[in-house]
Amino acid sequence: MQDSTSILLIYTGGTIGMKQDPVSFDLRPFDFSQILEEMPELKKFGYRIDTYSFDPVIDSSDVDIDFWIRLTRLIEENYSRYDGFVVLHGTDTMSFSASALSFMLENIEKPVIFTGSQLPIGMLRTDGKENLISSIEIAASKDKDGHPMVPEVCIYFESQLYRGNRTTKYTAENFRAFRSANYPVLAEAGIHIRFNTAFIRYPEQWGKPLKATYRLDPSVLIIKVTPGMRQDILQSLTDTPGIRAIILETYGSGNAPSGKWFTDCIKHAVDRGVIVLNITQCLAGRVDMDAYSTGKSLKKIGVTGGGDCTTEAAVTKLFFLLGQYSDNETIVNLLKKNIRGELTEV
Ligand code: ASP
Repeated sequence: MQDSTSILLIYTGGTIGMKQDPVSFDLRPFDFSQILEEMPELKKFGYRIDTYSFDPVIDSSDVDIDFWIRLTRLIEENYSRYDGFVVLHGTDTMSFSASALSFMLENIEKPVIFTGSQLPIGMLRTDGKENLISSIEIAASKDKDGHPMVPEVCIYFESQLYRGNRTTKYTAENFRAFRSANYPVLAEAGIHIRFNTAFIRYPEQWGKPLKATYRLDPSVLIIKVTPGMRQDILQSLTDTPGIRAIILETYGSGNAPSGKWFTDCIKHAVDRGVIVLNITQCLAGRVDMDAYSTGKSLKKIGVTGGGDCTTEAAVTKLFFLLGQYSDNETIVNLLKKNIRGELTEV
């Protein structure tokens, strides 16, 4: 039976859309306009499921800012026509893309569900079919007032729905490829799909127009602190011309070497107007620069604490903020604020 729900299924590339060539056994993307023929079970929903395929489709290692702009534009242009969007995307950079879109799509009131798979949809043991079917069901789910159950940019994978900007790809092998270590899952698919409504972001007032942003500035460098790192190398990294921000991936709760050479190097960057954001290398927990003296010294020289933000969310948030604002004070203030559910403010 046809119901009036409509979903736009966007195929960008990645393992999920691959089929094995019967002769060479190579994995090749298949013609996505045929998805309803490949997966006749999708017809059982009774929804209108339209498909859009990127051309060419890409391995998600090739995702760049232009790709995010195209995807955002596609969603913006089709926003009023569909109840929800499902984006099929390679897993490698899915957390970056979901984070980027969460910042680029302000006031979002419809689900944008990213999914993919670890095994191609054309393989017998694929995880792609369940991921796709449940993502469509979630994108179509409404509450009793007719509002979407999850008006957010999310990732659905292996029976769990996560807020996109809280995720990290965690394993290259298991079906449960993603983790959201600092934020609870938004829904769990078992016999029923159980929505964790207390943790889903709902608009204070429904009906605000979507505001899509296309200006991003990627002048950001990530430096991962390691024991034994060389002073001259750190110096040349922090002196890189053209950067406006550095994400310093530190140990534990935001700690870094306490030597003067290290602090001087970072201070030099701060003094020349580079924003330095402290993000922990740990998968879970938060940066607290007051916990140890090694963190305190970073705070003293003007490093900003990134709280429990993931690196994926931090880098895309910086691209977004640097694209909108030119003054560091505004950017730093917004880095400390939770603007799309990416950060737990304490
Ligand atoms: N390399 C692939 C990609 O990210 C892996 C995947 O799809 O899972 O596009």
